[in-house]
Amino acid sequence: MTFDGAFSFTIDGAAVRTANTLEVLNPANERVLAHAPDAGREDLDAAVAAARKAYPGWRGLPYSERQALISALGAKLQEHADAFKQLLTLEQGKSHYWSQLEVVGSAMWLQMVAQQKLPVTVNESTPERHSETRHVPLGVVGAIVPWNFPMLLAAFKIAPALLVGNTIVLKPSPYTPLTALKLGELAREVLPPGVFNVISGGDQLGPWMTEHPDINKISFTGSTITGRNVMRSAAGTLKRLTLELGGNDPAIVLPDVDIPSVVPKLFWAAFLNSAQLCLATKRLYIHEEVYEPIVEELVKFSQSVKVGDGARPDVQLGPIQNRRQYERVLELIEGARRQGLTFLTGKTPMPGPGYFVPVTLIDNPPDDAPVVTEEAFGPVLPLLKFRSTDEVVARANDSSYGLGASIWSRNEALAQEIAARLECGTVWINEIHYTMPNAALAGHKQSGLGVENGLDGLLEYTVPQTVVLRKALNPV
Ligand code: NAD
Repeated sequence: MTFDGAFSFTIDGAAVRTANTLEVLNPANERVLAHAPDAGREDLDAAVAAARKAYPGWRGLPYSERQALISALGAKLQEHADAFKQLLTLEQGKSHYWSQLEVVGSAMWLQMVAQQKLPVTVNESTPERHSETRHVPLGVVGAIVPWNFPMLLAAFKIAPALLVGNTIVLKPSPYTPLTALKLGELAREVLPPGVFNVISGGDQLGPWMTEHPDINKISFTGSTITGRNVMRSAAGTLKRLTLELGGNDPAIVLPDVDIPSVVPKLFWAAFLNSAQLCLATKRLYIHEEVYEPIVEELVKFSQSVKVGDGARPDVQLGPIQNRRQYERVLELIEGARRQGLTFLTGKTPMPGPGYFVPVTLIDNPPDDAPVVTEEAFGPVLPLLKFRSTDEVVARANDSSYGLGASIWSRNEALAQEIAARLECGTVWINEIHYTMPNAALAGHKQSGLGVENGLDGLLEYTVPQTVVLRKALNPV
C-alpha cells in the first residue's frame, strides 16, 4: 500500500470521494498533511444502507468463515505495517516506536479476537424438552473512536463486532482519520462489500450516527462528557451502547520498592504517548518514606527523555495531538502556576510550531487542585505524598472516574488487599498497561458503561436468544 495523499471512504466495498474535505494537520509542525473526505448525511445514510444490506449474508456465513476473514484482515494489516506506522506518526504525533507497536498490536488484536468463541448455555435437556440460550448479532454497529490510539481502539471494536455477525460503520476522529480510511481500503480486498464501511467527517457526524434509526448499537470511545451526549442521543432509538470513557488513574507506590528499577516504569506509566492515554497514571501517590528519593530520580529520568517530532529517530515523546487539547493542557499548567504550586520540571511552554508540552512534574499539590482532580490527557503529573494504606485507598477512590490503577510493592499480599479495595475496572500490580484480547476492560463509575475485550466484551455485540424445543415424542 502506498500513501499517495488520496483518501476516500469505504462504502459497500468501493471508494467514495466527497466534494467537501477536512484538513488534517501534522501536530509536530501544524502543516496540512492531507485532506480527508467530509461526510454529509447522505454519505452516512449510504454507509448504513450498505451495512444493512450486507448484514444477512454476513450473519449467515459459518462462524469459522468470519473467523478466517477477520484473521486475514489482520494479516493484511501486518503486511503493510511499515506504511501504516509512518502514516500514524504523521497524523497522530507519537514516535515511530509507539506507532509500530500500535499497528502491530492492532493486527494481532484482529487475529486473536478472531479465535474467540461464543458460549451456548443449555438451560434444560430432558426427554421432553431442549432449551438453550445462544448469542446472536445485533445488526449494524456504529463505531466511534478518538484520536489518541486511532488504530488500536478501532481494532478493539471491528474484530468483535464483525466476528459475531454484525456489520459496521467506523468513524474515526476528525483529527486522525487517515489510518482508518486506509484500513478501509485494505478491507475492500478482504471482506465482502458493505461488511466494513469507513467514513470521516466533522463534529456533526457523531451525533448523526448516534441518532440514526438504522444503527442498532454504538460502541464509543472518548471523553466522559461526549459519552453522556452519546447516551442522551441514542436514547431516542434505544440503541445498545458500549461507552469507554475518561480516567484519572492512581498509581500507589509502597515503601518497599526498588527505586532504580521502579522509576522508569512509573515514568512511562504516566507519559506513554505524551500522556494521551485513557489508562495513563494521572495521580502518582508515593509513600512518604520513599517520596524524596523517588521524586529526585523521576526528575532526573524525565530530563533524559527527548520530546519532539515523532518521525525523528531519537524522539521518545511526540506533541499533543491537536490544538484544542494543547490549549486545554496549557490552561491546566497556567492554573497550577497561578495557584502557586511547585513545578519540579516543565512550567515554561516549548516553542512552536507543533503542539509540544514539556514533561511537567508537580510537587505534592493539594488533593483539590485541578491538576489532581481533572484528567489532564497531557504530560502533567501530580506527585502526591501519603502515609497509610487506608489514607491512600480513600484518596485513590476519591474520584468520579474508575478506569484503572496500579500498585507497586514487593509485598504481593498487601498489594492484592489494596487492589480489592480500589473502585476501578483494571488494577495492575508491579506492571502496567498489560492488556490482552481475552481480558475484560471496563470502566467503573464515570469511566464507562459496558466492557471491551474478553468474553464480556464479545457478548456486548450480541443479544441473547433462547430457543425452547418441545420434543415430538411428547405430542402437544
Ligand atoms: P471526544 O469525546 O472529544 O471524541 C471522541 C470521538 O467522538 C471522536 O471521534 C469525535 O469526533 C466523536 N464525537 C464528538 N462529539 C460527539 C457527539 N456528540 N456524538 C457522537 N460522537 C461525537 O474524545 P477525544 O478528545 O477524541 O479523546 C480523548 C478522551 O477519550 C479522553 O477522555 C480519554 O480518556 C478517552 N479515552 C478513553 C478510552 C477508554 O478505553 N476508556 C480510550 C481512549 C481514550
